[in-house]
Amino acid sequence: MTLRAHMMDCPLMISDILVHAAKCHGDQEIVTRLPESGQIHRQNYARTHERTKQLANALQKKLKIREGDRVATIAWNSHRHFELYYAISGVGAVVHTVNPRLDPKQIVWMLDHAQAKAVFFDKQFAPLIDGIAKACKSVKNWVLMTDKSHADAVQTRSKTYEELIGDQPADFDWPVFDENAAAGLCYTSGTTGDPKGVLYSHRSNVLHALACNASDVIGVGARGNLMPVVPMFHVNAWGIPYAAPMSGAKLVMPGAQLDGPSLHELIEGEKVSYVAGVPTVWLGLLNYLDKEQKRIDSVERVLIGGSALPEALLRAYEDRYGVTMQQGWGMTEMSPLGTVNALLPKHDGLDREEIVKIKLKQGRLVFGVGMRIVDDEGRELPWDGQSSGHVQVRGPWIASSYYRGAGAESFTGDGWFSTGDVAHMDGNGFMTITDRSKDVIKTGGEWISSIDLENAAMGHPDVAMAAAVGMPHPKWQERPLLIVQVKDGIEQSDATRDSILEYLRGEVPKWWLPDAIEFVDEMPIGATGKILKTKLREMFKDYEFPGVEA
Ligand code: ADP
Repeated sequence: MTLRAHMMDCPLMISDILVHAAKCHGDQEIVTRLPESGQIHRQNYARTHERTKQLANALQKKLKIREGDRVATIAWNSHRHFELYYAISGVGAVVHTVNPRLDPKQIVWMLDHAQAKAVFFDKQFAPLIDGIAKACKSVKNWVLMTDKSHADAVQTRSKTYEELIGDQPADFDWPVFDENAAAGLCYTSGTTGDPKGVLYSHRSNVLHALACNASDVIGVGARGNLMPVVPMFHVNAWGIPYAAPMSGAKLVMPGAQLDGPSLHELIEGEKVSYVAGVPTVWLGLLNYLDKEQKRIDSVERVLIGGSALPEALLRAYEDRYGVTMQQGWGMTEMSPLGTVNALLPKHDGLDREEIVKIKLKQGRLVFGVGMRIVDDEGRELPWDGQSSGHVQVRGPWIASSYYRGAGAESFTGDGWFSTGDVAHMDGNGFMTITDRSKDVIKTGGEWISSIDLENAAMGHPDVAMAAAVGMPHPKWQERPLLIVQVKDGIEQSDATRDSILEYLRGEVPKWWLPDAIEFVDEMPIGATGKILKTKLREMFKDYEFPGVEA
């Protein structure tokens, strides 16, 4: 029998993170580009804690929020959204972050499914709210996240945020309760079927933040100056709103302006050292830097995830702008962190091409996440750097089921979550995703990695974005169709097609070459900034490869 240890059993509470930041890093700043005005707002952690306590009082006394209630936010990254994260979870309620880019019908569905009692929203989303408010029966209060002077012409609101908290006392004793109590709720984007809710706990978010702060993960420390461009409605902005105050890092919140010029201005103005976001954001910034001959010399590292890091992007930022690109992999169900790419001592001395190959992997497994790779029959595959299979994970910040029951098939009988990704692992714990299970192109019994094919195509100088999808083929079951958005000023012509094909010949195995290349004027981008393959499949559903008889 094991011997019970004599250690305190203190519940892990999210509110403790902010209490710590206010006490030990009270003068460290959160800088926000205000969503309602574009102006820069500064406030330190000590002041943020005071305002968060005012908000906690207002939630309880004015909005009658009780333990377990769901309170939704439809908002950009800002100091107010940060305060909501802490005040809502701090009183024992649940922050339900809603992605405003989703279809309004889906938002109504989510708020209803979550039975949200109150909704906090940025002014920019006022028209959306006016359109859906009547249909949201559970919502008793709508709060506009600004002050009175910016509240003109907004119909649906109970109060502005500043009016709500302004008359409240700044003393509040954060209650201590079960660390397994729900703290946050985020729905997956629901590209197949209804969205599914992931319900995070105090324990899972605190442990995840500790893991983020390891030096090979985010680990910027108190000298760090972090800008999450990844929205706070996208898997807790990858945990940064918890990890930064825990370590005392400065936080820079970009608000509603995520375009190249605005990001550049904020990075330069605040001397940001670490930024995080999806590849489409970094493509936008890169175009601006290249065109205007600007630099971002304060930036040391970029955390990039959500979809695969394109090789051309890696090379552009690292070789031309001296920024380290660090790829990460995860998902809503994983809080989101699973792997982050950081080189090992054994990689010292490798030549650039070998390093690039390693950096294009999704990264090394983070401690706390257990992983196995299994074949179609559920048999475990070796970590030999080539045996591809379905990725299953488990750990203290991995969902054990979805909120209110959906999606039970994603959870195995022996306690693992099936991610829906296909990957191989190498002997150093580096993961290489070859596809999402539903995106692999199955051709003649073999699998083509749509990610690798897209990545290769993105290396062509005329290609702005590329997506490979499997199209039915009478002989091969499926063959790849490459859909391309060319860069501004490039012609959508046969010559461009030929040139891309010719380029790919040098990059991928012959049998991977797309059977056809089609152009789109604008790639459909989903609510989390990724190419929407479902939409592309819909657009090309009657597509037939030229010269192929069905
Ligand atoms: P969804 O895209 O369904 O909204 P998430 O935002 O949680 O869900 O995204 C999770 C998925 O995004 C992963 O399962 C994986 O397919 C993909 N993904 C995340 N990071 C990477 C990466 N670095 N490389 C390739 N795919 C990634």
